Amino acid sequence: MKTSIRAFLTWFALANLFVLPAAAQQVKGQPDQPGNARKPGVVILATGGTIVSATPSPTDMANYTGQLAGVDSLLKAVPQIHNYANVRAEQIVNVGSNVITSENILNLAKRVNAVLAEPDVAGVVITHGTDTMEETAYFLSLATRSSKPIVITGSMRPATSLSADGPVNLLDAVMVAADPGSRDRGVMVVMNDRISAARYVTKMNTLNVDTMGALEQGYLGAIAGERVLFYFEPARARGELYFDVSAVTKLPHVELVYRYQGQEMQLVRDAVKEGAQGVVIGFTGNGNASPDHEALIREFGSKGVSVVRSSRVVSGIVTPKVSGSMATGSLTAQKARILLMLALTRTKDLGQISEFFAQQ
Ligand code: ASP
Repeated sequence: MKTSIRAFLTWFALANLFVLPAAAQQVKGQPDQPGNARKPGVVILATGGTIVSATPSPTDMANYTGQLAGVDSLLKAVPQIHNYANVRAEQIVNVGSNVITSENILNLAKRVNAVLAEPDVAGVVITHGTDTMEETAYFLSLATRSSKPIVITGSMRPATSLSADGPVNLLDAVMVAADPGSRDRGVMVVMNDRISAARYVTKMNTLNVDTMGALEQGYLGAIAGERVLFYFEPARARGELYFDVSAVTKLPHVELVYRYQGQEMQLVRDAVKEGAQGVVIGFTGNGNASPDHEALIREFGSKGVSVVRSSRVVSGIVTPKVSGSMATGSLTAQKARILLMLALTRTKDLGQISEFFAQQ
């Protein structure tokens, strides 16, 4: 009995995701119909993630494997997005964000810049896995410059799950991207009815749908029913930087290593062995280095490797103190790595790179 209910639920969920309902087919044609020209243009750039994943059973929310569905399945699952915007979609890559590469985010940034330059486009939505969503979001905030909103969303539950969160997250993201009040707010993450700033957002829970947020800085706003509600007038994160990536073909190799009790120095040394140009070390507390680490920082410096002192602590600010290294300020270690990569595309000068970090 249980098996047949489960089989039905699986079929039902898959049918909703992959089989195009008649109504959705009609809606798909809506952007070309007269009258829709008044709706803002929103482009969805899809990169994969749990939002397009499937599990054998709707009660299995974690063990998704195999082929990810394409962006078409997302559009079919949420025909209501066409009530808010003239939507078109492109598949950039189709992978979990645990395997997104530096090349992928560089290409994505270039595509976002190209799409935002189109006069009919009011905003962009990027669908993305949540694991490294914050890295892509922060990268885009540094590599794009536009008044138009860039909104990143994803889901924690596979598309075939009971109470999958992907469809509503996509709807919310399109609403935010289409909303005139979203201009001049930079890159935002929209998940679970909340709007976060790319600069500060981080994944805070491995499984829960309420995972994206910023402990210290909080949220920018919320999606309240059918309304996008910002808590503040348009504002940008402090120390915002811009790196033009139009001529960049490859991002520099920057490693990230975390400190723990009894760490062997060899492991940290190995991180920069294969030609890394920089390394971020997530130290304990306020970026507290041991004497051995301090010696290694000096050694790296003498070889022209940029070292950034960060922290493995969940929140807070890392203040400058060990000479020869830069402190991350309020950037997390994973975001410091993104900034160091982009900084190295512009200069190798440690003084200049330190200036970028000093503003964070
Ligand atoms: N593994 C997934 C990813 O692509 C997790 C998610 O999307 O929530 O990051």
